[in-house]
Amino acid sequence: MRQISNHLPTAELQALDAAHHMHPFSANAGVAKKGVRIITRASGVTLTDSEGNEIVDGMAGLWCVNIGYGRRELAQVAARQMEELPFYNTFFQTSHVPAIALAARLAELAPGDLNHVFFAGSGSEANDTNIRMVRHYWALKGKPEKKAIISRRNAYHGSSMGSASLGGMAAMHAQGGMPIPDIHHIDQPHWYNEGGDMSPEEFGLERARQLEKKIEELGEDRVAAFIAEPIQGAGGVIVPPDSYWPEIQRICDRHEILLIADEVITGFGRTGNWFGSQTFNIRPHIMTVAKGLSSGYAPIGGSIVCDEVAGVIAEDEFNHGYTYSGHPVSAAVALENLRIIEEEGVIEHVREVAHPYLAERWHALAEHPLVGETKLVGLMGSLALTPDKARRAKFAAEPGTAGYIVRERCFANNVVMRHVWDRMVIAPPLVIRPAEIDLMIARATKALDEAHAELKAEGMLKAA
Ligand SMILES: *Cc1c(COP(=O)(O)O)cnc(C)c1O
Repeated sequence: MRQISNHLPTAELQALDAAHHMHPFSANAGVAKKGVRIITRASGVTLTDSEGNEIVDGMAGLWCVNIGYGRRELAQVAARQMEELPFYNTFFQTSHVPAIALAARLAELAPGDLNHVFFAGSGSEANDTNIRMVRHYWALKGKPEKKAIISRRNAYHGSSMGSASLGGMAAMHAQGGMPIPDIHHIDQPHWYNEGGDMSPEEFGLERARQLEKKIEELGEDRVAAFIAEPIQGAGGVIVPPDSYWPEIQRICDRHEILLIADEVITGFGRTGNWFGSQTFNIRPHIMTVAKGLSSGYAPIGGSIVCDEVAGVIAEDEFNHGYTYSGHPVSAAVALENLRIIEEEGVIEHVREVAHPYLAERWHALAEHPLVGETKLVGLMGSLALTPDKARRAKFAAEPGTAGYIVRERCFANNVVMRHVWDRMVIAPPLVIRPAEIDLMIARATKALDEAHAELKAEGMLKAA
């Protein structure tokens, strides 16, 4: 067979991709027809494609490359670990040093008494673990009927049957028979789209109190846990009003249910602290981690579990685990990534340099005729597209049409910014420097200008 490499012409690679590669979250026929963009290498915050274009990655891959691309240390650690011990399992009374060291390090970093780690290969797997762990926990406590889990509409917790059921994405539930039984959803704290005439603070309280209503409706003795992302990521970087998390915490404290913080995006510096739970003063019983745990250099996820839950689970055989739970190469890579984040002061860089610098420029985009609001916590941000700022109006066109046009203009201007319906989101590598922020913002602004002109020319600047 002919060698397939970077050196093949783009068109040939595209044809092979179209013929054989099924892409996630894509309509493959459309992807094949248009032809994929092929990323060949990357360094720092910059991607290079097969045509030699240099692209500012405003999304850190998929919210994961926190320390930026091209860090040799991680490659070296991976190579060394593969030579020494490429794989061994952690079932059957065995362990290995990378898994031991990473579990101990995460226990040190995680707040409170989150001292125990159950490893998985991804965020989806970790959330599947959480479903089984919280239900088994209550069963061991003599309350097997306490198995309902409450989540939120438009939450994202992964794409496996369990984790996608936890998630609140209607389009995902519409395919494949979800949600699985006993998962319940309340509304999201998305003030811009759903807040109506309420103030953000009133609205935040109203949305938090839906949790208490749902607990009362189901019966406290039937509810195992509530799961939420400190900031919804894939749902559009929805930053809850300030009133929201304190009220959620009060409700969780008052009722006998477990709180799971899905920190897959918000963990490892993204919000300006090690964990989003610290930024929002949340005290979870379990945190889901993945993505930034290894900066995406190797697949790994996990659940960081408090003393009480881990202690109860420890008393019985937990009939659950993955071949790659605590994979030595991924664990070694994650440890090296955590070392770099700490020793190079990556989180301080977010807090003191990158966030303030980006905040000034990101919030200035609120002056753009197409932008209704801007949000930024640490280095995760979003902006709402609107045909009428004063009314927070939605477009008359099908939701997502305007967002798609802006994303296409970003693509053409060599900056990666994602759209979620008609909201644009960014989450660049945490190591991004001011000059790179300038470039990202300049290109994003040009994309917004071009999209605005296109929408106007097509008569699409109409409110619903
Ligand atoms: C990406 C994501 C997941 C799923 O992680 P995978 O590694 O893709 O399985 C879960 N929760 C949140 C908040 C995520 O952003």
